Amino acid sequence: MKSKYFTTSPTQTKKLGENLAKNILKIPLKGKATILGLEGDLGGGKTTFLQGFARGLGIEDKILSPTFVIMKNFKVQALSFERFYHIDCYRIKSSKEILNLGFKEILSNPKNIIAIEWAERVQKIVPKNAIWIKFQFINEKTRKITISS
Ligand code: ADP
Ligand code: MG
Repeated sequence: MKSKYFTTSPTQTKKLGENLAKNILKIPLKGKATILGLEGDLGGGKTTFLQGFARGLGIEDKILSPTFVIMKNFKVQALSFERFYHIDCYRIKSSKEILNLGFKEILSNPKNIIAIEWAERVQKIVPKNAIWIKFQFINEKTRKITISS
C-alpha cells in the first residue's frame, strides 16, 4: 500500500513521522525487528521526519544527522519496543560497513526498531518487510513523502 503526502514545513514532516511511530506502536510485535528504509533527495526531510518519529516513540534525545557516526541507538519509552537504531548511509561505500556493525543481530530482535537513511544505497541488505519512505524535494518548503508498506 502506498500513501502520498505533501508537507509544507519541517513541523508537518515531523508530525507525519510522529503519527507513523504511533501507528507502528499499535501493531503487535513481529518475529523480527521493525525496519524503515528512508530514501530520496538530500535535504528531502529524512532526518526531520525521524525527529518526529523518535518523539512518537517517546524518545527525548535530539535526533541529528550523524556526520561521523553511522549508527546511533536510543532507549524507546514504549511497552513493546526497547531500542531505536538510527543508521545513516550517506557516507558509506559498501553494505558491508553496515553488516560489520552487527546489523543481522540487531535485525533479529523484535524489540528493535530501525530507521535507515539513504537505504537505497544498501538496498540488498534491507529486509523485504521494510516500510519504505521516499522523500522528494518539490520546492524550498514543500516535500512529497511516499510511504509504502
Ligand atoms: P535529509 O535528512 O533528507 O537530507 P533533512 O531533514 O536533514 O533532510 O533536511 C531537510 C531540510 O529542509 C531542513 O533544513 C528543513 O528545515 C528544510 N525543510 C523545508 N521544508 C521542509 C519540509 N516540508 N519538510 C522537511 N524539511 C523541510
Ligand atoms: Mg539526513
